[in-house]
Amino acid sequence: MSTLLVKHAQVLVTMDDDRREIAEGGMYIEDGFVRRVGATEDLAGSADEVLDLSGHLVLPGFINTHHHFYQTLTRAVPGAQNAGLFDWLRTLYPIWARMTAEHIEVSTKLALAELALSGCTTAFDHLYLFPNDSRLDDEIEAAHTIGLRLHASRGSMSLGESDGGLPPDSVVETHAAILADTQRLIETHHDPAPGSMTQVVVAPCSPFSVTTDIMKESAELARAMGATMHTHLAETKDEEEFCISTYGRRPVELMEDLDWMGDDVWFAQSVFINDAEIGRMATAQTGVAHCPSSNMRLASGIAPVRKYLSAGVPTGLGVDGSASNDGSHLLGEARMAMLLARLDAAPNQSGGDLMTARTAIEIATRGGANVLRRPDLGSLEEGKAADFIAIDLSRLEYAGALHDPVAAAMFAAPVNVDFNYVGGKPVVAHGQLVTTNMEPLIDQHNRLAAQLLD
Ligand code: ZN
Repeated sequence: MSTLLVKHAQVLVTMDDDRREIAEGGMYIEDGFVRRVGATEDLAGSADEVLDLSGHLVLPGFINTHHHFYQTLTRAVPGAQNAGLFDWLRTLYPIWARMTAEHIEVSTKLALAELALSGCTTAFDHLYLFPNDSRLDDEIEAAHTIGLRLHASRGSMSLGESDGGLPPDSVVETHAAILADTQRLIETHHDPAPGSMTQVVVAPCSPFSVTTDIMKESAELARAMGATMHTHLAETKDEEEFCISTYGRRPVELMEDLDWMGDDVWFAQSVFINDAEIGRMATAQTGVAHCPSSNMRLASGIAPVRKYLSAGVPTGLGVDGSASNDGSHLLGEARMAMLLARLDAAPNQSGGDLMTARTAIEIATRGGANVLRRPDLGSLEEGKAADFIAIDLSRLEYAGALHDPVAAAMFAAPVNVDFNYVGGKPVVAHGQLVTTNMEPLIDQHNRLAAQLLD
C-alpha cells in the first residue's frame, strides 16, 4: 500500500456536498484514493510521501469534457483564423486528412501537457477522423506517458460531400469499419472501475457529418457495451438550420428520434438550444460540454449556460479543439466561462445573477465529473480519487487578491499550477511537468505541424 499525506494547504477546496473550504487543510491518501480530508492537525502524522503545501490553494483537479487534441497541430492556421464553423472546417479538413499515427501520438502528448500544467487531471478527447495509419490506440498509449486520466473517443464521420455532408469523401468511413473498430477499442481499453485511467466513448462527429443510421447503430453498440456517448450539437445557427431543413427537426428532437438522449449522453457546445429543449435535456439528464473560448473564436454565439445550470442539466467545461481556441488552458477556460456568462446576464443586471468564481470552479470540477459519469472524481472527500492541483499564492498575479484566494484563481490572470496529482501521483511538481521532457516534445510537434501545412 502507498500513502501520501498532504498538509498545511492555506485553503483546501473540497467541492463536497457542503462545499467545505478548509483552512490549514490536508488529506490522507491511500493507493490513489482520499481516505481523510480535514484540518492538518487532525490527520495522521506519517506517510510514504509527505507534501507540504503551505501557502498554496488546493483544488480538486479540473475535468475537460471536450477537446480535439490533434488540432494542436493546426493552431492559428492562415485561412482559418477569421472563419465561422463551416468555412473553418472546409479549410482544415484537407490538412487534417494528411495526419498519421505520429501526429496523433505527439499532439496527444502536447495537448495533455498543456492541460496538466493548467490544472486538468481528467480529459475527454473527441477524435473522429482516422486518416492513413492513425489509430485511437496511439492516443491512449501517449496519454499513459503523460499520466492524466483519459476518456478517449472512437469518433466517426460517415456522411461525405457527395451524400450531402460537409467533410470531403476522403475522410469518411463505412458503417462496418466504424462499428467494428469501436467494438474492438471498447473491448481492449475501456475500464469502468472507480479510479479508471482510460475509458472509451462512442462519438459520431455531428449531425452534418454522419448518417442517422450510424447514430442509431452507435447508440445501440455503446449501450450494449456500457460505454458513454458524445457528439457535437447545435454549435452554430447554420447547424440548427441544417437540422431543420434536412430532417425537419430541431436539434434535440433529432437526438430523441435517434435514441441519443439519456444520462449516458453529453453534447458539445449546444449554443442554439431553446428553453423547451433545455427542459427535455434536464429531464433526460443529458449533459453539456460548454466551450466558451471556441464559441467566441468562431463567432458561434453564447450558450445558455445559466439556464442549463438552473434547470439541472449536467454541465461541464471544455477547451474544445486547439484550432478553435487555440489553447488548452483549462483554468483559463473556467475564467472565460465565468466572464461570458456575465456578459450574457448583462441585459438584466441585478448583481445577484452574475456567475460567481465558485460556480465556475464547480462546473470545471464536480460538473465535469457528472458529465463524464465519473462519481469517483470531481471533489476531494473520502473515497474519491486523489486528483488535486495546488497553486502557490505568493505569485505576482495574485498580489492584492489574497482576501479570497479561491476567487483569485478565477478573477486574476490565468496561471499554470504548481502541483498536479492524479491518483496520488505527481504529474506536475514545482511548476514543471515531471512525466515528460517538454523541449524535445515541442520541437517534434512544431516539425510535424509544419509538415502538415506544407
Ligand atoms: Zn469540438
